[in-house]
Amino acid sequence: MDDDDVANRKVSFRKCLEHLSGAGKAIGVLTSGGDAQGMNAAVRAVVRMGIYVGAKVYFIYEGYQGMVDGGRNIVEASWESVSSILQVGGTIIGSARCKAFRTREGRLKAAQNLVQRGITNLCVIGGDGSLTGANIFRKEWSGLLEELAQNGEIDQEQVQKHAYLNVVGMVGSIDNDFCGTDMTIGTDSALHRIIEVVDAIMTTAQSHQRTFVLEVMGRHCGYLALVSALACGADWVFLPESPPEEGWQEDMCIKLSENRARKKRLNIIIVAEGAIDTQNKPITSEQIKELVVKQLGYDTRVTILGHVQRGGTPSAFDRILASRMGVEAVVALLQATPETPACVVSLSGNQAVRLPLVECVQMTQDVQKAMDERRFKDAVQLRGRSFETNLNTYKRLAIKLPDDQIVKSNCNVAVINVGAPAAGMNAAVRSAVRVGIADGHKMLAIYDGFEGFAKGQIKEIGWGDVGGWTGQGGSILGTKRTLPGKSLEDIAAQMRTHSINALLIIGGFEAYLGLLELSAARDRYEELCVPMVMVPATVSNNVPGSDFSIGADTALNTITDAFESAVLLSDLRDHHPEFCIPICILPTTISNNVPGTDVSLGSDTGLNVVVETCDRIKQSASGTKRRVFIIETMGGYCGYLANMGGLAAGADAAYIFEEPFDIRDLQSNVEHLTEKMKTTIQRGLVLRNESCSENYTTDFIYQLYSEEGKGVFDCRKNVLGHMQQGGAPSPFDRNFGTKISARAMQWISTKLKEAPGKGKRFTSEDSICVLGISKRNLLFQPVTQLRKDTDFEHRIPKEQWWLKLRPLMKILAKYKASYEVSESNQLEPVHPRGHEEPAAI
Ligand code: ADP
Ligand code: ADP
Repeated sequence: MDDDDVANRKVSFRKCLEHLSGAGKAIGVLTSGGDAQGMNAAVRAVVRMGIYVGAKVYFIYEGYQGMVDGGRNIVEASWESVSSILQVGGTIIGSARCKAFRTREGRLKAAQNLVQRGITNLCVIGGDGSLTGANIFRKEWSGLLEELAQNGEIDQEQVQKHAYLNVVGMVGSIDNDFCGTDMTIGTDSALHRIIEVVDAIMTTAQSHQRTFVLEVMGRHCGYLALVSALACGADWVFLPESPPEEGWQEDMCIKLSENRARKKRLNIIIVAEGAIDTQNKPITSEQIKELVVKQLGYDTRVTILGHVQRGGTPSAFDRILASRMGVEAVVALLQATPETPACVVSLSGNQAVRLPLVECVQMTQDVQKAMDERRFKDAVQLRGRSFETNLNTYKRLAIKLPDDQIVKSNCNVAVINVGAPAAGMNAAVRSAVRVGIADGHKMLAIYDGFEGFAKGQIKEIGWGDVGGWTGQGGSILGTKRTLPGKSLEDIAAQMRTHSINALLIIGGFEAYLGLLELSAARDRYEELCVPMVMVPATVSNNVPGSDFSIGADTALNTITDAFESAVLLSDLRDHHPEFCIPICILPTTISNNVPGTDVSLGSDTGLNVVVETCDRIKQSASGTKRRVFIIETMGGYCGYLANMGGLAAGADAAYIFEEPFDIRDLQSNVEHLTEKMKTTIQRGLVLRNESCSENYTTDFIYQLYSEEGKGVFDCRKNVLGHMQQGGAPSPFDRNFGTKISARAMQWISTKLKEAPGKGKRFTSEDSICVLGISKRNLLFQPVTQLRKDTDFEHRIPKEQWWLKLRPLMKILAKYKASYEVSESNQLEPVHPRGHEEPAAI
């Protein structure tokens, strides 16, 4: 990097600070209502961003209760006070319900406590109740101050100085019950907990034929139930927003017995806590169990998940979401004027947006009203497009129409996996196959990628063949990196032999290159003139034309899990030398998501001891050695995993190819860590993308840090390798794979319908596309048009959206970095949403 660059960076940093100065301001942060995983990550981000811009940040303990009580409940936060909380579930500042705050008297006290400390900016992390309370407080603020002045509690100068209260909300709720936001903080983690249980049930149920009735949270909102049902292909789901039709008892029993007849050993029924029938009468898990036992005589078990869903460590998605929202909340507070209404920061697609708080709350209450009035269609609609899409997708995939009701298209559609395996590929295949069958096509599976294609490894695949595929890791069809270029002749011949009318490719960068080759060969082989579409599936997330790819989320979770395991294991070894034997680091989940092994931590008693001992050490906080972990991530030249893994795990540095670094950067990073270790913080994490630099290898960095850190910290190194390709896909990847592939299949059906009668040649660019997520939309982009956006040498898109999040990680690690103030500092309307929304991705 030359001096100019450094100078430029400094200038832009200064500009950003001018914009965003928090000097003289005080921000209060509280968590309120029910707790959710990821709240701590949000608190951490608010505190650190607040301090970064020069503001004072105060913890307000125990929600509104602490605000009303004041005293030691309102304490200034320091940088270190939020260290090591990113991975902790729940909320370290406590959450409570508070009756007093519902009264003006209580709020008067709260106002006094805030004014005393000069706090006029409030960041509330909670559900719609908490946010409503915040808004009422904001509206009353000046009146409350006048009253305090009249009572002689404060003087006129204080009234003037603190005339306005700015309020920004972040929705923390596992239920995802807040209208206007795609995902609330905690929802994804709750889905992780639910899916872990489903996977566990799956393994225990192999030997018995059983029906499981699984009750998940959601008193008023069926999101968790619906998305879990999608993610595990449940046989039936009960939601408050969409009660089953009259006579559902019989329909459900028929469905269950049909599935049994197809030799399915396990039936899963998912019930939202607030499930109702069309008469608004509750439908309970027990009722369902009794019905199944009485009508069908099946061995049936009820599992009520309860608070387990709020527990455990937050998922990578929630940590990233909460970190982004926390930073955005501070920015929104600093940009607020007396005229700006209270807002909620949230994520739409992968964009941070600000929404008017009052309207969101209103809409959320409207859903409840619609349900109370039995306007269920309205309720589903009000929940937003993504909810509707989820519901429709679930119905399409779970319920097979009888053959005689399906209108045959007389088309053959083939599905193929290409490239390295990625978690979620099988979910994508299952969904394509089922949607295809429902659309009347004959579905063909191609095994072992283009290699198998050329050799004719092609077979018809049926509805039942893909049963239970959503939860399976790797690629069941088999996948190879081979490109089609050399065997075009054979592939064309196979296309002819099997009369393939359309092709769906699920894969990563090789799939993309393959699609380009097929496209270029269309003028030589007319067999290739059929609609072709690819959906991106690769842990590296480097496919041009899409912000996300299937498998990347699972990989991110593997990185955060692996880091935590590494920390635990190293502490363990400090105390128990008998563990100083080679131990492979496995993610500490019961989900067994490590490919190539049948055993993971938690599934083996011996290793259970390790985990328990680790936990004990962690609890007693006796792991006091200062230690830096250096972890190498996959991704080829694409730094997505290192960067986002860094954000999710709270890394001190993440070396990626996209942002060149030199010895001076390394030196300053080491110095930074040395400084950090002088504080109470004992842990450091450095991520290195596998191809970030030819010469600054992981070993080099490890040795450099070890040498320079001598006497201050020691280092541990870990190369994650293929573990990141994941065994069990994360809920996000299961759903993303399911939905994007269903959409791709829909596109194929539409194209085929446009050309009735066989023999039509598709030659236009837009008949050979990549389906990807761009900002908030699912977009089909002709593969040839993506050429210009591709860096072929390094196999990455020329522009990568997540690079703009890089400063965020640095800021949260106490570096100075210029953060683009906001993607949108305007309030967005709540209603109009993109048409083909990527749903709650
Ligand atoms: P959630 O935020 O999860 O929806 P609640 O509805 O229980 O949870 O609200 C949490 C707290 O927010 C309440 O205990 C109360 O202190 C405060 N609150 C909720 N609604 C209001 C309101 N209308 N006015 C004032 N405070 C409220
Ligand atoms: P079907 O329509 O034949 O039920 P699905 O693809 O919907 O086929 O399969 C879902 C079924 O797979 C579940 O009802 C259950 O029997 C089984 N299954 C069990 N555990 C899992 C899991 N962890 N992930 C996915 N499917 C599972």
